[in-house]
Amino acid sequence: MEDFVVEVRNLKKTFKRADGTPVNAVDDVSISVRSGECIVLLGPSGCGKTTLLRSIAGLEKPEDGEILINGEAMFSGAEKLEVQPQDRALSMIFQSYALWPHMTAFDNVAFPLKSRKLPKAEVIERVNQTLGLVGVSELSGQHPSDMSGGQQQRVALARALVAGDDLVLLDEPLSNVDAKVRDQLRRELVEMQREINFSAIYVTHDQIEAMELADRIAVMELGKIVQLGPPKEIYEKPSTRYVANFIGTVNELSGTVASKASDGSATVTTDLGEVEVPDEATLTIGSDVVLTFRPERCSISTHQIEGSPSWRGSVNTSSFFGSHTEHHINMSEQTSFVVWQAESTQLNYNDDVWVTVEPANIRVLPVETDEVSDESH
Ligand code: ADP
Ligand code: MG
Repeated sequence: MEDFVVEVRNLKKTFKRADGTPVNAVDDVSISVRSGECIVLLGPSGCGKTTLLRSIAGLEKPEDGEILINGEAMFSGAEKLEVQPQDRALSMIFQSYALWPHMTAFDNVAFPLKSRKLPKAEVIERVNQTLGLVGVSELSGQHPSDMSGGQQQRVALARALVAGDDLVLLDEPLSNVDAKVRDQLRRELVEMQREINFSAIYVTHDQIEAMELADRIAVMELGKIVQLGPPKEIYEKPSTRYVANFIGTVNELSGTVASKASDGSATVTTDLGEVEVPDEATLTIGSDVVLTFRPERCSISTHQIEGSPSWRGSVNTSSFFGSHTEHHINMSEQTSFVVWQAESTQLNYNDDVWVTVEPANIRVLPVETDEVSDESH
């Protein structure tokens, strides 16, 4: 059996709005975190990320479900069991790290140990050791106002790790930091997580942050985890349009399945004509679907390429971004595509172009609106 640092099973937490309507902030969530793993909870504001994290920390009381830390029950709805936050083997880091400004780095890191009444010599030893672990021994006597953002982050991490719990919960720690510093802090966090190998659950609404930090991303929508997997899998094989649109940019073309072939392909009728798509034996003839593909998984040319599946369109905008050029192409009244091209081809407004997408680069997804449909149990 695999060892998990955290196991969450069928967790439910409901709030009541001021007008009395219930909100399913955490709606039947199950997730397990492996030792040394960084899981990122990703989703828009209000989808339940903070509530899930606070429930694991013991700061919210769920209605039902189970939470285990290192195999020990911390919460069980069925058994009416609830372990107090201070008795859970984890620490939580909030927005902007929140170091105490009037305390030195040493005192900030010593703080979680003071309440445990450890002998003074042991406190000193552990604080020094942990400051060394995160690479800021020389800052021991310094106050937060005399540290860079990266140094503050390291001290905050030391404070989270000093008690010896190897699970750290982080709730949007970089959200109040300006963009330039944020990139650097994010990379440092990746390095430290790799070096120290603590387990982490990291909350963010920023997809770049999620892709850089996560071993696995849990995409959340309205209190549910809608997809869980490594960043590459989430990007390349999103399970819904919501996920596809939340992680990166995606082109969409609506259609109806017209026929299925025995070779694992299907034909979909769209307003750009018939399109051949891969079919993992999941499509039904007559069903409405959305064909999706990424802007870097299609190409553009000023003439039609024989034998390739291509559609005719006209250039709306064409912008040079250094690493690539981004073209917005009007395909029909309803449909426009974004195409990223590594080499920069000068295209002008209203130029006639052909957009080519190989069938293997098309992912067929079910039709759904952005609102989750009503599930009646
Ligand atoms: P996120 O962290 O993803 O932005 P939250 O977990 O903070 O989302 O909130 C999830 C949902 O629960 C939201 O609809 C929010 O309005 C609601 N909510 C959170 N905390 C409370 C509370 N104390 N009282 C009422 N509703 C709450
Ligand atoms: Mg939040």
